Amino acid sequence: MKNVSIWLDELEKKSFKRLDKDINVDVLVVGGGITGISTAYHLSTGDLKVCLVEKNKLMEGVTSRTTGKLTYLQENIYSKLVNYHGRNKTKLYLDSQKEAIKIVNSIIDSNKIECNLEKVSSYVFDYDDIESIEEEIKLLNDFGVDLKLSDVLPTGDNINTSYFIEDSYVFHPLKYLSSLVNICCDRGIKFYEDTKIISIEEDDDGYYICKSDDYNIRAKYVVIAVHYPYFLFPFLMPFKAYLEKSYIEAFKVEKNYKFSAINITKPIISTRYYENNKDIYQFYLTNSHNYCVKNDEEKNFEELFQCREEEADYVWSNKDIVTNDLLPYIGRINDSNIFIGTGYNTWGMTNGSLAGKIISDLILDRKNRYIELFSPNRKLNIGNFLKFPVALWSSAYSFIKTKVSKNKEWYSDRVRFEKRNGKNVGIYIDDDNHEHIVYNLCPHMKCSLIFNEIEKTWDCPCHGSRFDIDGKSIEGPSNYDITYSEE
Ligand SMILES: Cc1cc2nc3c(=O)[nH]c(=O)nc-3n(C[C@H](O)[C@H](O)[C@H](O)COP(=O)(O)OP(=O)(O)OC[C@H]3O[C@@H](n4cnc5c(N)ncnc54)[C@H](O)[C@@H]3O)c2cc1C
Repeated sequence: MKNVSIWLDELEKKSFKRLDKDINVDVLVVGGGITGISTAYHLSTGDLKVCLVEKNKLMEGVTSRTTGKLTYLQENIYSKLVNYHGRNKTKLYLDSQKEAIKIVNSIIDSNKIECNLEKVSSYVFDYDDIESIEEEIKLLNDFGVDLKLSDVLPTGDNINTSYFIEDSYVFHPLKYLSSLVNICCDRGIKFYEDTKIISIEEDDDGYYICKSDDYNIRAKYVVIAVHYPYFLFPFLMPFKAYLEKSYIEAFKVEKNYKFSAINITKPIISTRYYENNKDIYQFYLTNSHNYCVKNDEEKNFEELFQCREEEADYVWSNKDIVTNDLLPYIGRINDSNIFIGTGYNTWGMTNGSLAGKIISDLILDRKNRYIELFSPNRKLNIGNFLKFPVALWSSAYSFIKTKVSKNKEWYSDRVRFEKRNGKNVGIYIDDDNHEHIVYNLCPHMKCSLIFNEIEKTWDCPCHGSRFDIDGKSIEGPSNYDITYSEE
């Protein structure tokens, strides 16, 4: 069993050098996931000088661990959106998701991209909450969606009641994105890896000076496609969003039943098939939870394994940002020339692709009917905010737990905590008895960190930042390392 996503394991991709001098561009795209690469692709047909920088390696962030479904049936999101935003905006969201699927299809078609794209049926079902299923069916019928009903899946499994569409897709997200990267390179876009943007400042001419660890990039427009835009909104989490984490396994099966499915109540169960030239895999995702609530990764993976009898070939986990009004934040920040795309509520294959189109349309001064819907400047909805205490409390609970009890049950014999030079440090001792020392404080909101025995990382139990054993930041919110130095 491999502890890596099947997409990353199969991918052969180019590598790119680190930024090695100061440069000037029209557009700087920060972040090499689906949002950043889609934006670069849409800008690549114009005359603008564009570059994309990635702090680690391209396509190794959240996008590398998705299940790769392209569908507009996203649990029962439409009944929830109606409560928050009314019918018109909800219908517009539905249109946007259909359009995102068209955009991806048309890019694949016109560039003849080989990315295992398959048209499949997309099911939403539930064993218990029949009322919510019926509510969603009624709404989607009102919106004119061609829904079919069924009480069994194509595998013959009984699921009480479900609805499905026949025009959804699954694909290999990283094969798709690496083709976009190749096309962008051919069209003159420059990519840099191992280049982290740590600050953005406006100069007197209205340009932005974006500082990386070593060099500066001067840009007229900056696209922040970093999943969690920490250096702009350190407090997006926990006040406007929380992290949802899930666990996935892929195992070989005999037949590709050509459907994907998801239920609507916890524990979320999601599945799809993936067929390469050699084998057919079924994916099984479950155990989704607010990241702050369940921090014991060994137990979380164990719960995944208990769901199936089959031995998994691949196992991995992933987390995504869920916003408090269930709409992504995509677009221009106030009147500036800084743009963001984030908060996809676990539907980033469509929303990240759409973000690329919306942001490039904004930069190129083109019309786009979804600009207002996803505007990052929309007001924090106080009603939703009051419904959001679970996220706030769970962050606060984790924060207190790390400070007060130190949660001994989370730590093994290979992990120690000490004070060095007056600072709290965490020490991990590797197989060769070598000590790896880090500052044990998350730069985001000062939670103490816990050691993740499965993935060998230091994780923040409050908001999900992750660092490698030597303190290098792997995932946000925090953009900063926790590398220990003796000075
Ligand atoms: C379990 C799970 C399953 C999912 N399955 C699906 C699905 O089937 N269909 C679907 O539509 N969506 C799915 N999603 C959601 C989707 O995977 C994400 O929403 C999407 O991949 C997010 O893409 P991104 O480009 O915003 O982030 P990322 O892919 O994380 O890209 C951001 C990049 O920015 C880089 N970066 C960060 N900070 C800096 C910096 N300071 N300087 C330079 N670079 C930086 C990071 O290293 C990273 O590579 C799923 C999510 C989860 C959690």
